[in-house]
Formats: sequence, structure tokens, C-alpha cells
Amino acid sequence: MKKPERITIAGAGLVGSLLSVYLGKRGHQVHLIERRPDSRRTSVYQGRSINLALSDRGWRALEEVEADQAVREIAIPMKRRVMHDAQGKLTYQDYGKEGQAIYSVSRGLLNQRLLDLAEELPNVRMSFGQRVLSVDQEKAQVVIEEDGNGERTIEADWLFGADGAFSQVRSSMMGNHRFSYEQQFIDHGYKELSIPAAEDGSFQLEKEALHIWPRGEHMLIALPNPDGTFTCTLFFPYEGPESFESLDTVDKARAFFEEEFPDALELMPHFDKEWAENPNSALCNIRCYPWVNGSTALIGDSAHAIVPFYGQGMNSGFEDCRVLAAILDEEEDWSEAMQIYQRERKASGDAIAELAMRNFIEMRDLTADPEFLLRKKIEARVNEKFPDVWTPLYSMVTFSHTPYEEALRIGKIHDRIMADVMCREDIENMWDSPEVMAAVLENAERHL
Ligand SMILES: Cc1cc2nc3c(=O)[nH]c(=O)nc-3n(C[C@H](O)[C@H](O)[C@H](O)COP(=O)(O)OP(=O)(O)OC[C@H]3O[C@@H](n4cnc5c(N)ncnc54)[C@H](O)[C@@H]3O)c2cc1C
Repeated sequence: MKKPERITIAGAGLVGSLLSVYLGKRGHQVHLIERRPDSRRTSVYQGRSINLALSDRGWRALEEVEADQAVREIAIPMKRRVMHDAQGKLTYQDYGKEGQAIYSVSRGLLNQRLLDLAEELPNVRMSFGQRVLSVDQEKAQVVIEEDGNGERTIEADWLFGADGAFSQVRSSMMGNHRFSYEQQFIDHGYKELSIPAAEDGSFQLEKEALHIWPRGEHMLIALPNPDGTFTCTLFFPYEGPESFESLDTVDKARAFFEEEFPDALELMPHFDKEWAENPNSALCNIRCYPWVNGSTALIGDSAHAIVPFYGQGMNSGFEDCRVLAAILDEEEDWSEAMQIYQRERKASGDAIAELAMRNFIEMRDLTADPEFLLRKKIEARVNEKFPDVWTPLYSMVTFSHTPYEEALRIGKIHDRIMADVMCREDIENMWDSPEVMAAVLENAERHL
């Protein structure tokens, strides 16, 4: 199939808007269709204005279309995790080496910057308040419902479904022969809360950090915003003794926070209102395949929605755009290129979904566990001494472009090696002895 002239992208979220910049720069006539109003003109994020952690994969995808500068202006580096225990005692863990950080960005602001960049391209058109109702995958045709103006059909040569976890484009694929689909809601959901800036506008917690209150079955996190506020997210079970269901009044929720997160609650003057008014939102993993059929393909969350615990959902969606463009540079036949795209990215999507579930457990249960912290310390030291042999899994996922599936494979080998090391006698005192370092190195050289 030759290069399509007219491309429709359903969904102007993070991935759809970045994809429109990529495809616009490649010379296609792009039509971006979004069901919500234009967020630059009306507020569409009430109670769900989440912050995202942007890391190297996302930055690289932005850099390739020169979108990084506009995003840097709204991003705050987070150089380390700050863990808060129930007594308010703090422990620290650097994310990476000197100079490495993940970046806090508001989803709304990031989306707006990407829309501005797309709008600068003369061959990118945008329509807001237009919901895709149905799809003809062979003809790349969509029927849309325009706010107040009935239905109309939009024709194109190719269609991308970038319409998120509950994609309408993907729904149209559900009836396709041999289309596989799996949707798994986890027991936890999330609620947004906030910590305002101090009266003088300063940050009330360390600014350049991701704050975590790990408590086993539940966890609170806080990410900084440029205006001195923190956006907090409580990850919490829907049901059970301590759950959204059991904390069914603001008074019960407040009492629970006084017990579990007293230092955070002290900084939350709007807690009662936010608890009552902000929704409890569900979290799920979605897997499906194939992502390409006829003249239609899925990208971003519509192809591979994941739980947010590795901070990689958007990063992996941005990487989809970059990898797709790289494949199109090499392969002229568009149909063939799309086959390569879906094969490569499906493997990556499955791997990051697994990694995200593993990190859920790690953040919830282990960031407060002394054995886990010791293991991280040993790994960091091994990495410092033998950087060519050992890169910690978190760094591979967050600060490298190693395919997720390769990072997962290596991470599993690390687990086996570290399980041996942690069984050693007196490891608490011997952790950076030449003997321990040599044992790790020898195993790593043998197995990696
Ligand atoms: C609590 C939470 C925290 C997260 N934290 C991180 C993080 O730290 N780092 C990270 O990388 N990722 C994170 N993510 C994941 C990230 O938000 C998603 O991966 C990312 O938003 C996916 O982008 P997308 O464009 O594919 O989908 P979306 O952002 O969902 O965009 C889809 C767009 O399509 C539109 N749409 C839907 N249906 C239709 C239709 N029928 N017609 C027209 N338009 C339609 C929607 O209105 C929306 O604008 C987090 C997610 C959650 C829930």
C-alpha cells in the first residue's frame, strides 16, 4: 500500500496529539477528531487533573519532532523518591545517577502544548466536540456525532485509533475474526487530592521529588506543580476493611488519614471537599491483538492501557509514535510497515504491562521494607562499580531506550542473582564488601 494522503486520528489526547505532529511533519493531511471540547478554551479535567511522570522515552519522542522545549517549560524534575512513614519520618532514594530525573507534568497542560504544536502545522486540522460513533476499518471511514449538529461521515485513506483505554475504534474491531481482547480491572482505584502552596507561594514539601506514603494495601503519592501545589493520588482498594466502600463518610476518611497519613493531612485544607467531590476512578490493564486491520491501526492506550505504577503509560504511547515513524523511514510499503509496527510494539506493550503490575507491589509493599531498600542499595553500588554489566531494572525502563521486553528479561535475571545475594549471612553489614561485589559480578557476567 502506498503512503496514505489523508489520515484521520480519533482522539486528541496525549498520544493522538503527538501523533498528529509526527504525521503532519511527514506531509500527510491529518484530521484530529476529539469528543471533548478544546481543553485550551474550556475546563475538561474537573477532579481528574492528574500529573504524569515523563521520562526518557517520552522526552526522546518529543525531541524528534522538536516538541521538547515547549514541554520543558511546564515540567519539574523529580530527582528522588521521598518516603513518608506513619510517624512522618522520611527516607530517600535517588531515582538514578547524578543528573537523572523523572519529570512531573500536568496532563492537561501537556496536552494543550501538544495541541498548540499540532495547530502550527498547516496540514493538521482539528475538530473538537465530535465523538466517533462507528468505524469502517477497511475504508478508514468514521461516523461522528457533532455536538448539537447530528451525524456525519469522514473519509480518509488511513485511520488511527488514539482514543484511549475505552476506545471506540477498538470496539469496532471486537467483531473481527480472531481479534483477542482482555480487560482486567485491579482491586484498587484512585482519588485525587491536593496540597496547596504555602501563603508565600512556596512548596510545602521538597519540590524536586516524588513523595510516597507506602502503607501495604494502599499508598498515597504527591507530585509537584509549577505553581507550588502538589497533586496527590490515593491508590486504595474499592472493597474491604480499609477501602472506598468502608470510608463512606468524610469523617471516616479524615479519621483514617489522621492515622495513616498525618503529615500529609496537615497540609490538605481542602481534604473534606475533595474527598466528597472528587471521583473514585478505576484502574485496568487492556490487552488486545491485532492492532492493525484493513486501513485502521490502534496506538497508545487504545492498544495497550496499563496500570500507572511504572509511570510509563504515556511514555510508551509516545514511544509508539517514535518507533512508528522510524519504521516508516525504512519501509515504503505502508501495509508492511504497519505489520512491523504492531509486532514490535505488541511485545513492548505486554512487557510494560507486566512491569507495571510488578511495580505496583514494589511501591505499595516494598518501598518501606528494609530488605528491599538494602537490595536497591547493593544494586546501585554494583551499577556504580560495573556500569557496563549492571543497569538496574528501574533505570533500564525509565532512563534508557532498551525495549521493554529486553528490560523485563534482564530484570528477571537480576532477581535471581539478587535473591542469592540477599540470602548471604550478615548481608546487612557485608553488603558492599569486595566478596559480595565479586559474586554479583561473576553471576552477572555468566547470565546476562
Ligand atoms: C492515575 C494515573 C496516573 C498515570 N500516571 C502516568 C505517569 O506518571 N506516566 C505515564 O507515562 N503515564 C501515566 N498514566 C497513563 C497515561 O495517562 C496514559 O497512558 C495516556 O494518557 C494515554 O494517552 P492516550 O492519548 O493513548 O489516551 P488518552 O489520554 O486517554 O486520550 C484519549 C483521547 O481520546 C478521546 N476520545 C475517546 N473516545 C473518543 C471518541 N469516541 N471519539 C473521539 N475522541 C474520543 C478522549 O476524550 C481523549 O482525549 C497515568 C494514568 C492514570 C490513570
